[in-house]
Amino acid sequence: MIDWTERLLLGLDERELVEMPSLSCRVHQGLVEPLTFLQQRAASAGFILKVASSYRSFERQLLIWNNKARGLRPVLNDAGVALDINLLSARDKVFAILRWSALPGASRHHWGTDIDVYDGSRIDDNYQLQLTVEETQGNGPFAEFHYWLSDELAMCSSDFYHPDFYRPYAQDRGGIAPEPWHLSYAPLANAFAQQLTLPLLRQQLEQTDLELKHTVLEHLDEIYQRFIRVE
Ligand SMILES: [Zn+2]
Repeated sequence: MIDWTERLLLGLDERELVEMPSLSCRVHQGLVEPLTFLQQRAASAGFILKVASSYRSFERQLLIWNNKARGLRPVLNDAGVALDINLLSARDKVFAILRWSALPGASRHHWGTDIDVYDGSRIDDNYQLQLTVEETQGNGPFAEFHYWLSDELAMCSSDFYHPDFYRPYAQDRGGIAPEPWHLSYAPLANAFAQQLTLPLLRQQLEQTDLELKHTVLEHLDEIYQRFIRVE
């Protein structure tokens, strides 16, 4: 039997979540203060910090996964080009989906401690947000914001200011594609990451109506090492 604290790790319990009207998002209650502060720091530097994605439930992640596995939602390769999923083996399908989408139960967005951010000051209302690396570099609309954010996050090591946010997917380690926009609130997220064990995840997935379930469970050790554990 999975208790509520374990359900919380899997995106199955919402009791610790609160609305943040100023950012139109739902997060773990422990994020309200540090995220408000980060938003104010961004504003004083001339940016409008916006949240594209925050808490996501297990059910929502399951729908994304199943739609991709069924070919109802595009599965992209490293270059961002849609793959013909029917040409892939079951194993290759699983790993192609994992490149861009978390396994249900294993998304850091389940915890309410992780957010995808962008800068609303350099785009107009018609801008179609993509959340691509190109947007965050060079001539991309969020490049300046991300240079500022990098400096801001580097201040973690200073004595007088601790934003306590970091980028868990800053680099490509051959698992999840780089996501510089994805921020994690370390004091809570690190604790949750420690508690999300392989047996707990396996237990939940075994009782879930998950597409490609047999293949996922067969390779769950490798998936856990490559896509879920973050050092
Ligand atoms: Zn994210």
